[in-house]
Amino acid sequence: MSVSDIIAIDAHAHDGTYDRGSPGLASQFMTASASEVVAPAARFQIGITIASPLQAILPRGKGDPVAGNDHAAQAALDHPGLLQYVVIDPRIPETYLQAERMLALPTCAGIKIHPEEHIYPVAEHGRAIFEFAARFGAVILSHTSEKNSLCADLVPFANDFPEVRLIMAHIGHGWDGDYGHQVRGIQASRHGNVFADTSSARSITPNLIEWAVREAGADRVLFGSDTPLYHCGVQRSRIDHADLSDADKRLILRDNALRVFGAKLA
Ligand SMILES: [Zn+2]
Repeated sequence: MSVSDIIAIDAHAHDGTYDRGSPGLASQFMTASASEVVAPAARFQIGITIASPLQAILPRGKGDPVAGNDHAAQAALDHPGLLQYVVIDPRIPETYLQAERMLALPTCAGIKIHPEEHIYPVAEHGRAIFEFAARFGAVILSHTSEKNSLCADLVPFANDFPEVRLIMAHIGHGWDGDYGHQVRGIQASRHGNVFADTSSARSITPNLIEWAVREAGADRVLFGSDTPLYHCGVQRSRIDHADLSDADKRLILRDNALRVFGAKLA
């Protein structure tokens, strides 16, 4: 069996309308319905896509997480192979109530937070989110590493709440051009509960994913495409063709996600 036959799990995807406040080609290219996300995923041997709704996080500061979460819950029910993240904005109590309900569903794999698009410092609001997630033993996927969402600010919460599994998005991405935020975050974690995903345009940088695996361990890296913002076939192929062992690729593409999300993917 070749690596490209491994049925992958995409731990970081979206669906919905890409809205940066002005119409145009970007919005046309990066908008995709749930069906338009799941169909190409299947072509690239991605069996499960875990998505959060773009409506919940865009446009910056004006997303509608409550409506987005309701949409995502229905989309996950309607599309085999699609699971949702429930989006929490810690300043909107209704999103906690939704998360409480939705985390009980087999189609809701975890919590997504986006301190940048929602415009709040995670250093200030993270503790409440992690306290909540710990009650459910939930996975949190967080956007990183701009100034509101530094891995260095997120990891102390993961260290305080070992019941929570934290996935730091976008290996190689950083507001300051530093490729190392996510890897250093994993290295600063103390309970084996901190991971990072490959869902960034940065991932096409030569040697980056290979370096992350050497530094942080193949068991800490999850495949994520950030589709429909990026081409999911290209993202998949970056891992298929990485300079890594087949065993490491299998961990990244599939087995780590099975471990991190546990019963949700059973
Ligand atoms: Zn994303």
